[in-house]
Amino acid sequence: MKSFKFEKRDCDCCGSRNIEELSSYSVKTRTLSEIYLWKVRNVICRSCGFAFVSPVPGNDMLKQYYGDSFELSQVNYSIEKRISLIRKYMEGRNSSFLEIGGNNSSAFLKELSKYFRKICTMEINQSCTSVFRNAGDVPASSIDMASAYFVLEHITRPKDFLLSYRKILKDGGILIVEIPNLYIYPQNPAGIFQCEHVNHFSPVTLCRMAASCGYEMLEVGQNGCSRAFGFVAVLRKAAIRKSSKPDPVEYMFGKACMLEGYESVIRLEKNMISARKSILSMSKKGRPVIIWGANWICLRLLNNFRIPDNAVVIDRDLKKKDYFSGISVRLPEDAISQIRKSSFFIINTRYYADEIVSWIAKHAKRKLQKSEYCVLDYY
Ligand SMILES: [Zn+2]
Repeated sequence: MKSFKFEKRDCDCCGSRNIEELSSYSVKTRTLSEIYLWKVRNVICRSCGFAFVSPVPGNDMLKQYYGDSFELSQVNYSIEKRISLIRKYMEGRNSSFLEIGGNNSSAFLKELSKYFRKICTMEINQSCTSVFRNAGDVPASSIDMASAYFVLEHITRPKDFLLSYRKILKDGGILIVEIPNLYIYPQNPAGIFQCEHVNHFSPVTLCRMAASCGYEMLEVGQNGCSRAFGFVAVLRKAAIRKSSKPDPVEYMFGKACMLEGYESVIRLEKNMISARKSILSMSKKGRPVIIWGANWICLRLLNNFRIPDNAVVIDRDLKKKDYFSGISVRLPEDAISQIRKSSFFIINTRYYADEIVSWIAKHAKRKLQKSEYCVLDYY
């Protein structure tokens, strides 16, 4: 097992060292070839309210980690929403586009190529082909528009990141950022659920950090974001504006959102531990188990857990067939006999749980008792 070397951080948003610990835990994650031990300490800046992780893993090891990570083969965001916002701001800026991150984005980039003469991508995962490896490789003032979709929450020095991409934008150039939204963690803590997320931005803290790095915020919103748990911000290259003014409301509200989100995560983690125990105990007795729903909850359930032969993953979406590398996902209609024989069901969505139980009753002619299944979700 690999353990990261950790580095302490001050607040990257306002520079303050007045930091308050909110929660801490350890978790193991699996990459293609290693198991890593994460020690996560979530903190908040008492001055500006920026929530983040400190200490954070060093960049060299993080590069190795992401370079060796599993990739989802499926597009799990709305391409239409991304394209629609880009088109809104592309007028007069349609010669060059840079996607920062660019993981799993070929369908999006193909659509984008209808609008831009030149499209570049950047991705630290070695299995992706891309033009550039880091911002320093891109000529200064050469890019009209850039996007960073769900990247900034992974960056241990977000201010340096924003500054370095400002350099490569043309004057008036646009950077579109999407990130998990701290304000909705109490309802949807997907953003705090992943140990790899080292920043927990709200629109307010992103706007403040962006201003201090030389961007003005043109638009910020939730519905335009390509994933449900995030928000989207449109930033334009502008003059640098620094502020050291404290923001007590952002601190109080950010803290409440972090703590309430963390409570849901702890609850879900406990339920996952007992679900894994059920899978293993059924496995010892040679009894089949159905895991229903190939989604991010399933990904976390199976993270660092070798799925035994008695468990079958099912999803009604044919596109989820190759959701995980190394684990096959089957359609329920192709697994009727397993559904009939299964001793226990793990349903990875509360929203569709009743519908799934009804589907089983109708198609597999089996009426599930409450003791025969559990539902995993963050609420
Ligand atoms: Zn701060």
